[in-house]
Amino acid sequence: VEHPASVLHSFLDHAGRVPERTALYYFDGALTYGELDALSDGLARYLAGRGFAAGDRLAVMLQNVPQFAVAVLAAWKAGGAVIPVNPMYKAQELTHILTDAAAAGIVCSERAWDGYVRDAAARTPVRFALTASEFDLQSRDDPRVLTGARQPAADAHDVLAAARAAAGPRPDVALPQAGDIALISYTSGTSGKPKGALNTHGNISFNAHRQVRLQDFDDDAVYFALAPLFHITGMVCQLGAALAGGYAVALAYRFEPGVVLDALREHRPTYTVGPSTAFMALLARPDATAEDFASFQLISSGGAPLPPAVVEGFRARTGGLYLANGYGLTECTAPCASVPPGSEAPVDPASGTLAVGVPGPGTMVRILDDTGAEVPFGEHGEIAVSGPMVVPGYWNLPQESAAAIPGGELLTGDIGFMDEDGWLYVVDRKKDMINASGFKVWPREVEDVLYTHPAVREAAVVGVPDAYRGESVKAYVSLRPGAEADAAQLVAYCRERLAAYKYPREVEVLGELPKTATGKILRRELRAAAG
Ligand code: ATP
Repeated sequence: VEHPASVLHSFLDHAGRVPERTALYYFDGALTYGELDALSDGLARYLAGRGFAAGDRLAVMLQNVPQFAVAVLAAWKAGGAVIPVNPMYKAQELTHILTDAAAAGIVCSERAWDGYVRDAAARTPVRFALTASEFDLQSRDDPRVLTGARQPAADAHDVLAAARAAAGPRPDVALPQAGDIALISYTSGTSGKPKGALNTHGNISFNAHRQVRLQDFDDDAVYFALAPLFHITGMVCQLGAALAGGYAVALAYRFEPGVVLDALREHRPTYTVGPSTAFMALLARPDATAEDFASFQLISSGGAPLPPAVVEGFRARTGGLYLANGYGLTECTAPCASVPPGSEAPVDPASGTLAVGVPGPGTMVRILDDTGAEVPFGEHGEIAVSGPMVVPGYWNLPQESAAAIPGGELLTGDIGFMDEDGWLYVVDRKKDMINASGFKVWPREVEDVLYTHPAVREAAVVGVPDAYRGESVKAYVSLRPGAEADAAQLVAYCRERLAAYKYPREVEVLGELPKTATGKILRRELRAAAG
């Protein structure tokens, strides 16, 4: 895939050629490419004025608001890197990241700054802070968010006010090179302590342009940012690819099903990508209609397992729309396998697992056994990925980097297999395997069965300690609104459909399953609760 050194190069090209084209929609507001360019020039000048220089790092801790894009572009224009931070992080997690990455500055909401970020940042190397006007879902017509007219906090400037005050040509700093660090993406920690993956400008540009090339949309395409921009999928597949392709991206603060439906009705997007749980939540809304989704030319689910039953449920509710799977990791700068437009992923007849896609151009996927040797088609092993979107390593962790990415090939920690037609299947995370009386049980397979039950909205399966079996299979589910099913019925349902060692001996019904801010179900928390 041919691509410039960075998405910033593509953005500047669009801003120069078609400055009047819309880059961002945000509720009733919009910013053109020209306006976004001018604002990010101003903010880059502000950053340079605060001593932010090439190689420095700016933490951006925001929901999906326009200031997010302004801050990212400004940091890149000033020669620095961005640390996207989940705005739901509390003081301890935030302090760890700001200290670990030695952030020079932080951008966050006014509310977070006043709440706990000011105190947390004071214990870290952070030298300056910028705030974005807080935005309350109740006041969606509030124009202040795009004017920056709020009274800024005494010790932190408003992003947009600072950008306007420092308006002028962007600082005299060289544009990024492909090998320069663009993002330090702290993994969400579903498997432990967050590590900062180093996504280079080349990594992002490759994946963003690969997506634009595959999709081949018209110039007036609108992306809808369903996933949070602080997560790699949102950053690369929504903001990054939109700016690479010269498209508009519609933002809606954060995922809230009712707000998302309103935004779909208003912006009529061409494309979106989000975790499967987001689509399940949208489907659970009684007011969602096929018409709400009619503008989509492509819609993808990525970053979490996609049960075949959800694909079919989505098709039925949307009048035939196909929900395309996609597989990615932070360390792959978002996707490394996807379903080519125009085709549908097969379901493995033996396990009922839906394929995640085929490896993208320039991407090599190998399936390895415990000795590191490649296994034949159809056999399980660890998925290993190499290609131009694999990160060079983690921030300040040379040993972990060498262990996870030996010779530039990423060991994903996921178990999968490849069929003879080149489709890749993700079985599950290696560490989530359940060992029940010596039999391997992959939670995904059991979850996929639970998802076929009409009452089940969400399902998660974990191993719980069992004196007799070593581990036994336990399922947690949440139910669709108005649906009824008790634990015994669900156990019986699985027992009819799964081998004796696989079906859950226990099912617990919860109101809601614990999830990360990106919408992934947290088996780890359920395991801890059960253990
Ligand atoms: P951490 O790395 O801290 O555990 P995380 O795993 O949530 O956090 P991400 O990089 O966001 O970090 O997630 C990547 C993981 O998500 C993959 O390794 C895989 O287990 C899972 N995943 C992504 N896409 C799919 C998919 N289409 N089907 C099944 N699993 C998927």
